[in-house]
Amino acid sequence: MPSPVAFLPPSPTDATETAPDDRYARQRLLPWWDQDRLARSRVVVAGAGAIGNEVLKLLALVGVGEIVVVDFDTVSPSNLSRTVLFRAGDVGEPKAALAARRTQELNPDVHVTAIDGDIGRDIGLATLSGADLVLGGLDSVNARWAINRRCLQAGVPWINAGITASDVQVTRHVPGDGACYECTFTAGMARRFNERYSCTGLVRRTPDRTVPTTAIGASVVAGLMVHDALRFLHDPATGLRAGQRQTLLLDGYRQFLDDLPVDPDCPAHAEPVQGWTTTDRDPATSTGRELALAAGLDAAASIELTFELVLGFACPGCGTREDIGRPTATVYEDEILCPSCRQERIVERGTTFRLDGPLGDRPLASLGVPPHDLVAVGHGDVSRTWLETGGPSPWRTDRPDRSLHRTETALTGARA
Ligand SMILES: [Zn+2]
Ligand SMILES: [Zn+2]
Repeated sequence: MPSPVAFLPPSPTDATETAPDDRYARQRLLPWWDQDRLARSRVVVAGAGAIGNEVLKLLALVGVGEIVVVDFDTVSPSNLSRTVLFRAGDVGEPKAALAARRTQELNPDVHVTAIDGDIGRDIGLATLSGADLVLGGLDSVNARWAINRRCLQAGVPWINAGITASDVQVTRHVPGDGACYECTFTAGMARRFNERYSCTGLVRRTPDRTVPTTAIGASVVAGLMVHDALRFLHDPATGLRAGQRQTLLLDGYRQFLDDLPVDPDCPAHAEPVQGWTTTDRDPATSTGRELALAAGLDAAASIELTFELVLGFACPGCGTREDIGRPTATVYEDEILCPSCRQERIVERGTTFRLDGPLGDRPLASLGVPPHDLVAVGHGDVSRTWLETGGPSPWRTDRPDRSLHRTETALTGARA
């Protein structure tokens, strides 16, 4: 039997002599802890539901310096049994802004901002690449698929959390190292993923799946997840391995660690975008054509986005064509019917379009391009260059940028 003394913290005398009694005095006693490192860290929290609430609470309490919370949803009555940051009077309010405000109240040292949007589209790739880590408290296969793809594009590691009524799981995913989320796709996950889409790739109006959960599962999984996040932020070689999954059976009182196999044919694997030029062009007001002209290209250039659009609908019945220019993930299958002749139209999908066409004239935000996103402009592959859109950034701007990928150049010339 080990002596219980072995589990006691350092003696109070030692502790008070070496650490001042500030907010972080107790956690600083951990031998591996570095409060300054945490203060310099940037974490994106995807989802402000049951898991996200617990994750935000913990990140703020330990003093993670910058937190961006992303969610498109509003508070519903059934959230209130599992969300420590929300109150009965909050029903109907946007989750992200509310969660950010309440998290900020927990610790004035940290900087918390919100993006009221979808994690798969509404956080710019350059914003995402400025994060050290993304924590996913998401409740659908589709949302996890989207964040996995986005994190691979941005070259940012993410930790995925999952809960059922009786077990919790945490998996660390690191781009280029170990299994990604899509490597782990089973037939059942693929079926659930596809339930959301019609055979033309458009979105079906299906009700969201609900799973039995309590605040207990959310609290436990968030604790495991933030523990692994803190280990990662201190030293990526500690904590879970890349592609490793931790499972805790709440009723079985057992724990497993699995190294998930890499799928060599995984369609998600891609090199992250590297080396781009920053611009001050806010997608809310700037068109793709203006962006290309600012980069020294002519209006006959093409632009490539990092997500797919429905470019247009063509009607084989009456011969009409409609420009759409919206992310495919936001176009519903019932929109396919021709408003004139009610025939099913042909869906034109793609990531690239010419800037001298109708979509080149539209503000980039109307095509779904968020602030600080990355777009490629050029004539084919020859003169293609990656540009970062401008606009408001959720990160604190008074901090030197540490992004490894960013180039020194910036376009600040007069608006074209
Ligand atoms: Zn993969
Ligand atoms: Zn028609």
